[in-house]
Amino acid sequence: MGKNKKAPDAMSKIVALCKRRGIVFPSSEIYGGVGSTYDYGPYGVEMKNNISRLWWQNMTLSHDSIVGLDSAVILHPNVWEASGHLKNFTDPLIDCKQCKARFKADDILVEGQETTKSPQCPRCGTKDSFTDVRHFNMMFKTNMGPVEDEAAIGYFRPETAQGIYLDYKLTQDTARLKLPFGIAQIGKAFRNEITPGNFIFRTREFEQMEMQYFVRPGETSKWLEYWREERWNWLLSLGVREEKLRWLQHPEDKLAHYAQEAWDIEYEFPFGWHELEGLHDRGDFDLTCHQEASGKDMTYFDAQAKERFIPHIVEASAGLNRAMLMLLCDAYREDEQEKETRVYLSLDPKIAPVKAAILPLVKKDGLADLAKEIYNNLRGRWPLFLDIQGSIGRRYRRMDELGTPFAFTLDYQTLEDGTVTVRWRDTLQQERISKDKIGEFLADKL
Ligand code: ATP
Repeated sequence: MGKNKKAPDAMSKIVALCKRRGIVFPSSEIYGGVGSTYDYGPYGVEMKNNISRLWWQNMTLSHDSIVGLDSAVILHPNVWEASGHLKNFTDPLIDCKQCKARFKADDILVEGQETTKSPQCPRCGTKDSFTDVRHFNMMFKTNMGPVEDEAAIGYFRPETAQGIYLDYKLTQDTARLKLPFGIAQIGKAFRNEITPGNFIFRTREFEQMEMQYFVRPGETSKWLEYWREERWNWLLSLGVREEKLRWLQHPEDKLAHYAQEAWDIEYEFPFGWHELEGLHDRGDFDLTCHQEASGKDMTYFDAQAKERFIPHIVEASAGLNRAMLMLLCDAYREDEQEKETRVYLSLDPKIAPVKAAILPLVKKDGLADLAKEIYNNLRGRWPLFLDIQGSIGRRYRRMDELGTPFAFTLDYQTLEDGTVTVRWRDTLQQERISKDKIGEFLADKL
């Protein structure tokens, strides 16, 4: 590296790797890109799908009281009036009077939980030169139908939760659920963030994985405790290092307008500790608001106790893209191999976009054909990568960077005794197994 070049920091390395390996691309790049907007490439889609599938399975298969829903992105505009989002879903905004840069007021004026004495502009360094705080609504507005007037205004949902509340009675009724029960949803949400950034950590368009758990009044503390433990354990099941996770309870004066109690699970990203997902006691706030605004009965009837009441809600709200960034950061590794730096993603095989590579040592002497045969017998069961061309070292490096946990290499011995080498990504340990046992090997590890 030249004298004047600064070594890239951890985030720049991860961003570059994601582009190089088809995980995440900057969006609309041929037009110069749109700020903080990303596309998920062939391996990013696989990885993201793995995370959402594991979340979905954990919610709906491991808990028989939870069912799924896929509600609309653009709901009736009155929903946002009733839910308080039109009035309260705002971020405090300030501008530097000197350089005109715009910031989220909390990032400048608050240090931890204390108000900063002499705030300084992070861009131009000027002190005490900010406008008054203004409140900025983060919902994206659009027009429904061909007429652009006030009556036709719609909003892109800033959270998936409201769709669940609107459908809760139909869902409960059709799935014949009794309290406590949950409704899970994965889908896009949109927020006109003042300061998107840190790669896919904060974007204006993102995906949420939200589960709303409906409980009897008075039971929210018990269930919040239960879901806190469940969510923590789920993250550990993805192979995340536990020392990189911590809890943060929201102080009362910082609670969102709908929350009675709120906890974040934070992860130590290369740019600091930040929220990964949130657990909220939303009480009966949302259902009561919708009952009042719509005039429709939102109560639940407990046939056994012959009681009618509005259920209370405990919410587990996670960001899919943020979970993916966390897993990328957690898995990024560098080591020294034969005097060269090797980069690899130490992803749990459940998360890895490609599960194994099939690599003939050389193309000739029937090795490539045999590799194709093995690949064709196994594909369809797992995402595999058949890579025939180029130096074996370079092919290994590509797979390491993609986090592919196993590589099966065919060499001249394969032609003699039908064995292949299994190479383990993290330890580089190698062993020989019969080519006919590759399927069994993978089934056992995945
Ligand atoms: P933050 O404080 O980071 O803005 P939040 O407290 O507003 O987040 P919630 O409303 O609780 O977030 O949303 C639940 C989850 O959705 C978050 O924990 C995060 O994982 C994800 N999320 C929220 N906003 C964004 C965003 N702009 N980009 C990506 N993910 C997001």
